[in-house]
Amino acid sequence: MKALKIDHLGIAVPSLAEAVKAYEALGFTVESREDVPTEKVRVAFLPVGESRLELLEPTDAGSTIAKFLQKRSGIHHVCVLVEDIETVLAELRARGVSLIDTEPRPGAGGSRVAFVHPRSAGGVLLELKEKG
Ligand code: ZN
Repeated sequence: MKALKIDHLGIAVPSLAEAVKAYEALGFTVESREDVPTEKVRVAFLPVGESRLELLEPTDAGSTIAKFLQKRSGIHHVCVLVEDIETVLAELRARGVSLIDTEPRPGAGGSRVAFVHPRSAGGVLLELKEKG
């Protein structure tokens, strides 16, 4: 897998409005906001150099982020930008890596994403992203 850069760090928050306020007070600025209905989240991206922080607020009690927030808040996932996500997933599958998604799914900003299970990534939920 050719990992191009850390695309973003995903941070689960109960309220996007409050989290944005807190991060703006820290000196960050919101670059974009988006609803991602497939993931049942509302997100805001805050640039940090070439990378971003992704603040994620659940829009549904049944969403993965809502379940995560019942246990804890904070960093939810690390996202690595890759080229040709299908080839990457095929390579990882062939190596016996535990994948949550065997096929890419739609992500924010027209991207395509897939998640690697934390048991194959040192306990970290790893998102792979191909630019839209
Ligand atoms: Zn993400």
